Amino acid sequence: MQHHPCQPDGLFPLDDLLPPGTGRPPAPAAALRGSPAAARMLDVREIHAEPEAAASARGREIIARFPRARVVEVPSHWRIPGLHGDRGSAARWVRVKSGTLVLGVRKTLTVRPNGRSADWIAPGPSNGCAMACAYCYVPRRKGYANPITVFTNTDRIIDRIGRHIAAQGRKPAPNQCDPDAWVYDIGENGDCSVDALVCDSTADLVTAFRRWPTAKASFATKFVNPDLLAYDPRGGTRIRFSLMPAEDSRLLDIRTSPVSERISAAGDFLEAGYEVHFNLSPVVVRPGWEEAWAGLLRELDDVLPPAVKAQAAAEVIMLTHNRGLHEVNLEWHPRAEEVLWRPELQEAKLSEDGSRNVRYRGGAKRTALERLRELIATHAPWLRVRYAF
Ligand code: SF4
Repeated sequence: MQHHPCQPDGLFPLDDLLPPGTGRPPAPAAALRGSPAAARMLDVREIHAEPEAAASARGREIIARFPRARVVEVPSHWRIPGLHGDRGSAARWVRVKSGTLVLGVRKTLTVRPNGRSADWIAPGPSNGCAMACAYCYVPRRKGYANPITVFTNTDRIIDRIGRHIAAQGRKPAPNQCDPDAWVYDIGENGDCSVDALVCDSTADLVTAFRRWPTAKASFATKFVNPDLLAYDPRGGTRIRFSLMPAEDSRLLDIRTSPVSERISAAGDFLEAGYEVHFNLSPVVVRPGWEEAWAGLLRELDDVLPPAVKAQAAAEVIMLTHNRGLHEVNLEWHPRAEEVLWRPELQEAKLSEDGSRNVRYRGGAKRTALERLRELIATHAPWLRVRYAF
């Protein structure tokens, strides 16, 4: 039987039978949640809440955590007037992301097959994000700034994932998602490390996955939240630090942790029991991009401890963009569009959800991917590429 490397044989990890706290890593002395640094990311002044979400235990806990916030009742977390689809929001983009939360109840608990980054996309505990990457597809779904929506029914989400895992049985054969475990992406539409500043949904999911020996949670992040080091995942969660050259990140990854911080956190997360992978994404083709990526890969090679390198793998994802987002970005961050919007290199693509996206043309994309693989082979040959597209 395959199981997580940090977990003993048997249905329940031994530590779960011990008194609370026994055998667990100590919580960090100073938690990030509640600190001035966390308040810079999230200074919530307005909470839009569905009545059922506001009345739930998690909803009440979140509302109590942000006592300065005005709570506004909304019939649905979708299409909130003045928040989603309001062109005026483009000008207030970052203020909306840091100052607004939405609380809703997740109605659709569908587990979708993926097969690329993960075997399955789990129903996530949130959507929307407090960070503001200029290329982010997350706002495309709800419109404009799209701050964090927390789904307060995490217990139902976890229950659904648990039943899905039980129905799969063991993974029959290794694939590029994972050799042993079924991989469930829990953060498709947001960033679980920032969600952890709001409530315990990320902690609850990490805890749940350590009990499921045939499965593994996975999420990508651009935010280093040391509170996650105390979650004790025992190999049941893969954290994927998203990386791009620092100069691109400074222009495009608004409000995120600096790339060097994400890289230097990798060793701590591995030691704390996470599997640590990297998303090399999005790859933005611009003058000088090859030298910049070579520099990033050399930094990985210099800085990462051998133990991180030994288990690391990467996903490589070329930039896709979108005409609607391009137009909105021109209103709040036009400099980003100088590198993101390159019609001479890009072609239109109708995506699954019907939105009109653009991606690098076939030839240009193939050449760039080949070049990046060569750079990885030269500067970080230990870094296995799980997939590239
Ligand atoms: S961190 Fe991820 S979800 Fe958040 S804005 Fe950036 S790309 Fe979007």
